[in-house]
Amino acid sequence: SRKFWVGGNWKMNGDKKGIEEIANFLKAGPLDPNVEVVVGVPAIYLEYTKNLLPPNVVVAAQNCYKVSKGAFTGEISPAMLSDIGVKWVILGHSERRHIFGETDELIAEKVAHAQESRLNVVACIGEKLEEREGGETEEVVFSQIKGIAEVVVDWTRIVIAYEPVWAIGTGQTATPQQAQEVHGILRDWLRKHVSDKVANDIRIVYGGSVTGANCVELSKEPDIDGFLVGGASLKPEFVQIINAKQ
Ligand code: 13P
Repeated sequence: SRKFWVGGNWKMNGDKKGIEEIANFLKAGPLDPNVEVVVGVPAIYLEYTKNLLPPNVVVAAQNCYKVSKGAFTGEISPAMLSDIGVKWVILGHSERRHIFGETDELIAEKVAHAQESRLNVVACIGEKLEEREGGETEEVVFSQIKGIAEVVVDWTRIVIAYEPVWAIGTGQTATPQQAQEVHGILRDWLRKHVSDKVANDIRIVYGGSVTGANCVELSKEPDIDGFLVGGASLKPEFVQIINAKQ
């Protein structure tokens, strides 16, 4: 059975004092020991945060570049993350895609290089509102997962985050049925195009307005293996979300 996985994505939030407060509520927990917990931290605070967190919570970078070093002003590489002991990176987040113009192609290159560098990757996918309303959800998420699947070499080092763009930061959480439907077709896609083992073992987590109030119902769906949490990961209710799975 799949280990429940809960990630926080702080996005561009937090300062030293706020991070200390978050570390304190995570230390106080208590956190279900059967859940893997990862927090996505602004790069500049990765080491600071790592030193404050309890050992059962690890940090992730929110982005990295597709090569290990060179003339790429402003970027950081998987090699640099590994060098400071960071083992996870979030790639393909909808904000990277839609605010910073990252294409499926660039995201695939980043996933490929992160995999070569033995980082664990949280690969984010999800349809926009107009795509859902146009009946294109399946086509969009299949095309996104295909781009990622083509470059994955080690399926034990990847978590898929399904984050419908219309649910991110809007308070409009997908219903458990809406999320389950997409998680189910993604797992079927992996069964058909990769293998039974990968389909059975991979964690597919849901993101988009997850809160302490809706996490338990979402966690009951058979193909929801955890969450990627934005706003609520900055608050003590994140502990409730970590402990959602009964
Ligand atoms: P919210 O939980 O704030 O909707 O953000 C979700 C998200 O983008 C996590 O990566």
